[in-house]
Formats: sequence, structure tokens, C-alpha cells
Amino acid sequence: MTTDDIDTSVVVIGGGQAGLSVSYYLKRLGLDPGNEFVVLDRGPGTGGAWQFRWEALRIGSAHRINDLPGMDELGISFENADRQSPAKDVVADYYQRYEDHYGFQVVRPASVSSVENVGANLRVTFNDGQGDQHVTTDIVINATGTWGSPFIPWYPGLKSFEGRHVHTTEYTRAEDFAGQKVVVVGGGTSAIGFLLELENVAESLTWVSRRPIEFLEDGELNLEARVSAVQMQDEAARAGRALPSIVSGTGVPRTRRIQAGVERGLLAARPMFSSIEPAGVRFENGSFVEADVIIWSTGFRPELRHLAPLKLREKEGGIVVANGTAWKDGRIFFAGYGPQASTIGANRAGRTIARQAVATLSRLKREARDLAEAEAAPVFVYHAPEEHAEAPVSTDLDYFGDGDARDSVVPAADEPTPDAPVGEPLEATQAIVIDDDDWMRPQS
Ligand code: FAD
Repeated sequence: MTTDDIDTSVVVIGGGQAGLSVSYYLKRLGLDPGNEFVVLDRGPGTGGAWQFRWEALRIGSAHRINDLPGMDELGISFENADRQSPAKDVVADYYQRYEDHYGFQVVRPASVSSVENVGANLRVTFNDGQGDQHVTTDIVINATGTWGSPFIPWYPGLKSFEGRHVHTTEYTRAEDFAGQKVVVVGGGTSAIGFLLELENVAESLTWVSRRPIEFLEDGELNLEARVSAVQMQDEAARAGRALPSIVSGTGVPRTRRIQAGVERGLLAARPMFSSIEPAGVRFENGSFVEADVIIWSTGFRPELRHLAPLKLREKEGGIVVANGTAWKDGRIFFAGYGPQASTIGANRAGRTIARQAVATLSRLKREARDLAEAEAAPVFVYHAPEEHAEAPVSTDLDYFGDGDARDSVVPAADEPTPDAPVGEPLEATQAIVIDDDDWMRPQS
């Protein structure tokens, strides 16, 4: 794709599990991929975040990876996928075959830098390695995940550390830490996975966590429990409180391998250190642990920078979403966030969001048609009542499509009217906040 200003109806940003699942349902609902909807992915390859996961991660060692919808048509399933090769390669291969089979024509690399309002449309700007390109669209479905937004909490002395800071996203293999003094930060299963891998590799290992580790006795992380964890975050965000992490709402599964690590004293977390010094970390009680590396398994934030021009954020920092749609702008959808941030959640969201997007698209087209008809009819001049005297009045938008000019009072262009998909209630709101990378379950 090299031409400027391509027109389409739907732009899907992100070609991971969520973006592909949405694409599958958009196609089933009759939209032509590459024409009526366009998928933009930063790439460089297939697999979404999975292509960047560390070498040692195997399909069987992670949580269940759910098949994409319609994957059975290709005769492949993660149920019987290769468990010897790195999960990153297996997932990338399956997704590639899936994209080819359904002809999604995902544009890669396509790094989206902004989504803006241009009249009644949205203008998506992305860089394809050659320069900036633009797509004009009616609807945007954001499926950008969190991998590109690693989060490291601030502690006094953070910048003074003379060793290496390594976030989960930068961890590739245990050998990189051979003979080093390592501090691992985080109370989730990624941190635990790293500790188990590094046990006989690093010179010393220290595990610290902000909170006591809550082990689940049934050995299974309940993905659905994430829903209530996200609701907890929502409440905190709306009350202006510090956000609790996802793992504090779900706990850590006590697998046989983890239990064995606990019993031999490897998996014993110290309380969080209070400051960082050039050569290590200092605890509240004055004790000091030397470190060459601090591994931060401290989670992610949603990747939403490119949506900043739309001003969707609340003052508390989150975006309020109802039924997968931004509360402040019914043309912006979110796939794969909050409780949807697992492969099964992303699949479910795909169907719901594709339906909502197509319903919204029909409504927008209907409104555009009505508008065109209205423009052909005689013009009535509307005088705004006193209380609306300051509000911008537009005669070219009629949100309810009934020709009533009073509906044409619209906010300024950068403050879109809150709107919901047709027939969908707005009560079920949730702020989108992701705070922990607690998904990887070490081998049991
Ligand atoms: P991603 O897979 O992250 O895909 C997002 C895509 O959007 C990427 O391709 C990215 O390049 C692209 N993108 C981002 N920003 C832009 C932009 N500005 N412009 C263009 N493209 C962009 N879930 C499970 O169900 N099972 C597991 O075992 C599991 N293990 C996990 C392990 C870890 C360490 C982590 C962090 C998460 C794990 N998850 C797991 C949750 C995981 O996030 C989902 O399974 C899945 O990867 C989410 O899919 P997604 O499409 O939402 O996001």
C-alpha cells in the first residue's frame, strides 16, 4: 500500500488474536477484506505479541491458547500444536496460514501514529517504512494489545542503577543472565517463570513483590476472574484511587512445578525494596542486595497513544467503554482489552465487536443518505434557543436521522458526541486498564 488517502469503511488497528478474530467476523458479515475493511499491523511478522515472546515459552507451558474462529477450516488447532518448538514460532506460523486462507491482506509493517477526526470521517495515519500513509474510514477497531507499552514503576534511584533494567518484553533467554546477580520484580506468573528458568543459571536470585503472593490451590488461573479484577480497577479509577493490579484479583496457580519451587525455597518473595542504588537494591529494614540486573515483570499499559487526538481519555486516565465501544465516540471500538485480554476473550470480543461495527456502519450510511436527501430538500433556517447560543450549530449533521434541526447542535469537532451502537444500552461501562503480565503459566 503506497498511495495516500485510501478510503474504506472499517480500519482494524492490530493483527494479533483480537484483530484477526474481528476480521473473520467482519468478513462473515459481508465486508470485503482489503477493500471494505483494512487491517494495519506494526508487524514485522504474523503472530501479534506472540512473535516477541521468549524462546523457552512452549505452547504446553503457557495458558491454553484458543483457536481463532474458523481455524478448523484449515485443519489446524492449538490443541495438537507442536509443543517442542518455541510458542512464538508456532503461533506466528498458524496465524500466517489463517491470514492467507481468509485473504485478510493485512498491511505490514504499518505502524499507526494517529487517528483524527476529519469532518464526519476518521483519518488514520500510519508509517509503512517508506513514510506516512493515510486511510480515511468511518469506523476504527482498535486491537493493539499491550505488548508495545511495557510498564516499569518508579522507585527512588531508578536511574542511578549501574546494571541493566530488563522488562518482560526484553527477556529472550535464560543464558543472557548466566553468572549474574538478578533481582526479579513482580507477583505474576511471568516473574515466577523467569525465576524457575534462572535458578541454575544466575549467580544469585532475589524475588520481590509489592504484595504477598496469593497461590490458587486448584492450579488453574481463572481467566474469567479477570473480569472482576478489571471491575475493581474501574471502581478505583473512577474514585481516583491507585489502581490494583490484575494479578491481585486473580492469584497465581499453584502448579506442581511452582509448589516444588516454593518447597525448596526458590519461590519466596521478599517485600518490595524501597530504593535502588548504583550497585543494587535497598530494603526498608536497611538491608542491601547486590544486583547486575533487575527484571521488571510489572506489566503493561494499553497501547492507545495513536488515539490521543480523539480525546477519549477520562481525567482519571482510562477510557470508558460500553459494549466494546468508546463512550465518547461510537465509531471507535476496542477489541482484546480488559476482560477480553486472553485468546478466548479476544475471540468472543471479535464476534460482538464485528456485529456492533457493522450495525454502526449501517447507521452512519443511513444518516449520510438521509442527509443527502435533506440537502436536496428546501432549507429551513434554525435559530438556536438562548441556552444553546454559544454551542456550534451545524446544519449538515442530524444524529437521529429524523430531519429535526435541533439534533444538529453538535460539539466542537474534537469533542465527538457520545453515541452508542444501535440498540445497545450504555449502562455496562468499564474503564480499560491493564496492569500485569500474569499470563504465563510455567510448566507443571
Ligand atoms: P497482541 O497479540 O499484542 O496484538 C496486537 C497487535 O497490534 C500486534 O501485532 C501489534 O504489533 C499491533 N499494534 C500495536 N500497536 C500498533 C499500532 N500503533 N499500529 C499498528 N499496529 C499496532 N493469553 C492467552 O489466552 N493464553 C496465554 O498463554 C497467554 N500468555 C501470555 C503471556 C504474556 C507474557 C502476556 C503479556 C500475555 C499473554 N496472554 C495470553 C494474553 C495475550 O495478550 C493474548 O493472548 C493475545 O496475545 C492478545 O491478543 P491481541 O490481539 O489483543 O494483542
